[in-house]
Amino acid sequence: MKTITLKPGKEESLLRRHPWVFSGAIGRSDEDIAEGEIVAVVDAKGRKLATGHFQIGSIAVRILEFGDKSLPENFYQQRLENAFVLRKAINLIRPDNNCYRLAHGEGDFLPGLVVDIYGDTAVVQAHSPGMHYDRLKIADALISLPEAGIRNVYYKSDTTLPFKANLDPVNDYIIGKYDGCLALENGLQFNIDWLKGQKTGFFIDQRENRLLLEKFSKGRDVLNMFCYTGGFSVYALRGGAKRVVSVDSSSKAIELTEANVSLNFPDDNRHAAIAEDAFKYLDNIKKDEFDLIILDPPAFAKHRSALKNGLIGYRRLNLKAFEKIKKGGVVFTFSCSQVVTKEMFRLAVFTAAAQSGRKVRILHQLTQPADHPIDIAHPEGEYLKGLVLYVE
Ligand code: SAH
Repeated sequence: MKTITLKPGKEESLLRRHPWVFSGAIGRSDEDIAEGEIVAVVDAKGRKLATGHFQIGSIAVRILEFGDKSLPENFYQQRLENAFVLRKAINLIRPDNNCYRLAHGEGDFLPGLVVDIYGDTAVVQAHSPGMHYDRLKIADALISLPEAGIRNVYYKSDTTLPFKANLDPVNDYIIGKYDGCLALENGLQFNIDWLKGQKTGFFIDQRENRLLLEKFSKGRDVLNMFCYTGGFSVYALRGGAKRVVSVDSSSKAIELTEANVSLNFPDDNRHAAIAEDAFKYLDNIKKDEFDLIILDPPAFAKHRSALKNGLIGYRRLNLKAFEKIKKGGVVFTFSCSQVVTKEMFRLAVFTAAAQSGRKVRILHQLTQPADHPIDIAHPEGEYLKGLVLYVE
């Protein structure tokens, strides 16, 4: 195994079990280490600290195992079994719920790997060259997990791998084949299309927040902005909303929302879906038309360089909602940008509240659900932030 030697004093973060080695911490490396290769990381005195996947970029090694142990032959099997045990422990595998995230990168000690489960299909996303090269081993480990009942493994990494690595990943089944599935989330049905949908086909990370929204929905006029597959809309309808309007700029998303609403509430005339830009739509509605508004936009700041504009975007969006919502209304507002901390997000929303002149109170502070765990040594893993606000 090739070796990467750290500069003196650069071992601290690894000793605290942070799973990334930045390129600036490297003193020397063996020659010709290939992207995705498994390497040993040693300190300046030559003591082995960890084993991980090498890649070219600012994060140079993603750690798979700490200490001087080597990786066992059945490494993926062990880690994925461990991940499955957690999902069982948090009671996600039930007759009324068959979709969940099985592997959440660093949060499951599998940096660079995401696996979402929809019924008997696993959708695998590699975020690192190492995970890309190991995809067949990962697929084998998935189908041999006892109890998980996985029969098909679909690999979908065309947008997640570093572009410069030139890996040209092909989205395809590694094992089995089954196009699309009817998934159950908390007893509600959703058509999942991993072939054409965004990410792995569905935003599983909003599951618990949708359940909370359901409890706020009774008798309310609900506006679900950035609805994508209509997750929040379907929960609002089950919660007894008077009316639900779903908005997304993508007409494909509007079709998906309409299909999911009809699947659960056929011929229900409380729902309408509109393909429109969110900012424009909020500008054009009347004041007081809605008393429950969901703002779940795509990441406005995908990189640190976009942070300033991203925060301006969150402020503008929330301001528009505060200007239009009825007195006594509730706003569910989110940011899924990893570089936006919860303090930054709260400040952007606070600024919007101050500009609107409305009295705003925080009822709940939301985050990602337990199948998107955060390794305590890797705070960067906390990406989803939400606030439930009462607006007077
Ligand atoms: N709330 C959804 C996930 C939202 S993903 C859920 O629970 O599943 C973000 C969505 O925002 C995407 O569907 C994308 O098409 C939509 N979108 C992006 N920019 C938009 C804009 N300016 N106006 C309206 N929708 C937009």
